[in-house]
Amino acid sequence: MNIGKKIYLDHQATTPVDQRILTQMIPYFTHSFGNPHSLDHSFGWESARAVEEAAARVGRLIGADADEITFTSGATESNNLALLGLGRSFTSGKRRRILVSAIEHKSVLAVGRVLEERYGFRVEQIPVDHEGFVSIPVLEDAMGDDVLAVSIMAVNNEIGTIQDIAKLSECIREHGAVFHCDAAQAPLGMATESLALHVDILSLSGHKIYGPKGIGSVFVTRGLENRLNPLIYGGGQQSGLRSGTVPVPLCVGMGAAADLLTGENGQALRTEICHRRDTFLDKLRSLDIAITENGPTGYARHPGNANLCFHGFSAHDILGTLQPHLAASTGSACTSGITEPSHVLHAIGLNSDDAEASIRFSLGIDTTDQDLKTAVSLIKEALGKISKTTLVRSA
Ligand code: PMP
Repeated sequence: MNIGKKIYLDHQATTPVDQRILTQMIPYFTHSFGNPHSLDHSFGWESARAVEEAAARVGRLIGADADEITFTSGATESNNLALLGLGRSFTSGKRRRILVSAIEHKSVLAVGRVLEERYGFRVEQIPVDHEGFVSIPVLEDAMGDDVLAVSIMAVNNEIGTIQDIAKLSECIREHGAVFHCDAAQAPLGMATESLALHVDILSLSGHKIYGPKGIGSVFVTRGLENRLNPLIYGGGQQSGLRSGTVPVPLCVGMGAAADLLTGENGQALRTEICHRRDTFLDKLRSLDIAITENGPTGYARHPGNANLCFHGFSAHDILGTLQPHLAASTGSACTSGITEPSHVLHAIGLNSDDAEASIRFSLGIDTTDQDLKTAVSLIKEALGKISKTTLVRSA
């Protein structure tokens, strides 16, 4: 098939920087370049004001105040700061268990292992159902007064499951545990404006929301910030929680990205993406191939996410055949490259064959109807090519 444009359906791995966001960042690279921690001159004040405004915008996205936002290098660092920060602070006392859902990102699961091996916590995985939801009775059973913290992501990066954070929060708070929520995928997936009400610590990432790479943030509810041990020590910037000169242009970009997705504008963008995703699925279903959808079937799903199992095929073969015309992914981007099957697909009950036949397509605000039409044709063509080679090989 002859196409002029490469189609990108991997927005849950990363998004391009939106031009409107880049425009706001640029002056802070060259013109307003002051160190925001320089207190003695107007260059510094100007940068400090920009960082404060960015923190306020990130805060508005999740219903928090600017002083509850700390900038980090991304959601991986935010997740590390949240959980290691807590674990290293609460080294004694009766709360020795930490609960994490079985479908957390590796930056939570890996930290869990460190907390077990180095800090003596018992880190337990809470199972999810076949759509990826943590059920309240299952969580309630696992809770107890010996639980220090619970980490449950708002929106899953592979299958798009949107958890009921408010309900989970009630259960966690009843037992006095800290609720950490990895919300890296949330702003494009759901309305986030009241998330901070329900959680104690929350992680975000710039490059999942049309902002730049290398910036993220962590919300820490007021009062808890002194109970987190920093990961990085130095000049005491950001109230000592994360030392180092904050990267002003990146913070401005993160703030602008948050602004783009806050309120009605964010809702309108999500509604549009959802409509496109559903049309894409309808078109794929009308092809004469055996596909099933992994993850939630109802509304509690990231509107741009479609995780599909192409029964009898290898996802790697399909994606390889689609190159360089169409980008999508097997499992999460952070695990691709390592040939281990997706822990998320296993957690929802897929066997290895089906997990290895599954592809995540993720649409963004820049995905067009024409992109999706072309994508369906490319997928059809790729499956045809692979079937033919398999037939020739087995003949
Ligand atoms: N959590 C989730 C749910 C993610 O999808 C990702 C990115 N794959 C991360 C954390 C890590 O984010 P970052 O790339 O900003 O470190």
